[in-house]
Amino acid sequence: MVKGAQLYEGKAKKVFATDDPELLIVSYKDDATAFNGLKKGTIAGKGVINNKMSNALMKLLEERGIPTHYVKELDDRNTLVKKVQIVPLEVIVRNIAAGSFAKHYGVSEGTILKVPTIEFSYKNDELGDPLLNMYHALALGLATEEELDTITEYAFRINFELRSFWAECGVTLVDFKLEFGRLPDGTIVLADEISPDTCRLWDTETGRKLDKDRFRRDLGGVEEAYQEIMGRLEAKLKE
Ligand code: ADP
Ligand code: UDP
Repeated sequence: MVKGAQLYEGKAKKVFATDDPELLIVSYKDDATAFNGLKKGTIAGKGVINNKMSNALMKLLEERGIPTHYVKELDDRNTLVKKVQIVPLEVIVRNIAAGSFAKHYGVSEGTILKVPTIEFSYKNDELGDPLLNMYHALALGLATEEELDTITEYAFRINFELRSFWAECGVTLVDFKLEFGRLPDGTIVLADEISPDTCRLWDTETGRKLDKDRFRRDLGGVEEAYQEIMGRLEAKLKE
């Protein structure tokens, strides 16, 4: 597969064309940002970890019946994916109150929610990714009702699968962000990434944060946390 022109450079990944118009190469960087790009830094080795973790989790989800953009890991940082038209929504699923949810609704971080919940943000950096509901998404023409139903169903199924997987690694899946896209025939698939950049992952025994919150909140031990969570995943996959 030939790596063609760079189509886009985002905050955490670069996207390249290939010789197949239906495929792209995503290339994971060590760059880290938080607070809509206000805080910038580097997490050494993050790109390799996020690439491999995202691919392993997408493979697992495919096996459990969730369609994804994943095609093939090319090397440590580069993965071949199906090109999609991204649905401009950040789909957030939560099991435990943390971050903006804890702040908005005045619940302490760590409160177990009665049932898993979902929310949507409009994926728009200029507007700061504002929260919106399904009716807003329909009104703005961001997705159809059928697409929103599919996305919601997949998001909760993904939560069920990932929560069970991480539990077996001694890790609690607190919340996470997903992005979905449309294939040329309109099929909705999971796209983007699933990694410690996009999930809150807490060690079940100690509560230690093993995700990007260590960077966002200046907790230290950022690289070590990424290595630790990757080690847990690799150990589980080897069983
Ligand atoms: P951001 O754009 O938020 O800075 P990234 O640095 O992760 O994010 O850039 C990757 C970009 O590629 C994102 O805009 C994401 O929506 C997009 N993307 C992810 N998967 C696919 C795909 N399969 N096809 C097309 N675009 C994708
Ligand atoms: N998240 C993400 N990208 C974003 C916003 C959130 O990957 O642009 C993830 C974040 O890592 C967490 C979940 O979505 O796992 C919920 O984040 P929250 O809304 O609490 O945001 P924050 O506290 O980071 O503002």
